[in-house]
Amino acid sequence: MIEQVLPDIFRIEIPLPKNPLKATNSYFIRGKQRNLLVDTGFNCQESRQAMTEALHELNVNMKDTDLLITHLHSDHAGLLTFLVTPETTVWMNEADAYIVGGSRQSPHWDLFSRFLQFSGLIADGIENTIERHPGYRYAPEEFDRFTMVEDGFEIIVGDYSFKCLLTNGHTPGHICLYDEKKKLLFSGDHILGKITPNITLWDLGEDVLGCYLQSLERIAALEVDLVLPGHRYILTDCRGRIKELQEHHRQRLENVMDILGENRMNGVEVAKQMKWDLSFKDWRDFPWGQKLFATGEAMSHLYHLFYTGVLSLTSDSGIMYFEKR
Ligand SMILES: [Zn+2]
Repeated sequence: MIEQVLPDIFRIEIPLPKNPLKATNSYFIRGKQRNLLVDTGFNCQESRQAMTEALHELNVNMKDTDLLITHLHSDHAGLLTFLVTPETTVWMNEADAYIVGGSRQSPHWDLFSRFLQFSGLIADGIENTIERHPGYRYAPEEFDRFTMVEDGFEIIVGDYSFKCLLTNGHTPGHICLYDEKKKLLFSGDHILGKITPNITLWDLGEDVLGCYLQSLERIAALEVDLVLPGHRYILTDCRGRIKELQEHHRQRLENVMDILGENRMNGVEVAKQMKWDLSFKDWRDFPWGQKLFATGEAMSHLYHLFYTGVLSLTSDSGIMYFEKR
């Protein structure tokens, strides 16, 4: 499905089969010499077909088109190696590009097993099979021709002039594109309507929730009339949505503190008791992927509370436990 959003800007809906996100928004911006395509969809048959048909309908030649991948997740980067031509420049931030470039060989996937261990998921009996992870299954092939973009890097396409804004949190190298004159923001998965971007702690050492909240503040300071997100519908009230996201995480932190009480608990124990906007009543009914994302969220909130001095953190048989100081 193609929707013209603004002059020379088209939203292409790319289906994500059997995934709760349903679809990724890819955006095509028609330029004078070069066009730009922002994000792609999974490396799977359904996404490939939808993208091929849309590019045909829009009469796009990938030789004249560059790619910007907002972040490493396969629902955004998946079709990169399917679409790229020798003439295509592929822009990405280095922190995410090195993970995408390594495909299934990326060190990112070594962290996956460690996360299952330290969050308590393995002790809870979860199946340790990386092959089930959609990010692994639908990753692009290995790729090493990225053009790295730093914060503030400018990309001009036709009448649009975009600044790349590093907005880490959802991933370490997430970028948004901002046209200051047109007050237009491509938000990737940094700001979404209806669904809240998943903030997961994969690796100990970085306060990802703290980074995310700071990156929200950064966008809140901008003048934005239109937000073009990586999933679902287009937004107009950018600051209003940021306030909701901030409030969502404030409540979630409060929820985590209430669950902990005076106990010493690990990530999965907290995740089981948190409030989730899902139809499953019992943790045992949660699908494998949802258990992973829920526990990742619990861990990012617990770790933020540790990082800011509220909780203490101890390790027992490779599992991290949190309690009030
Ligand atoms: Zn994402």
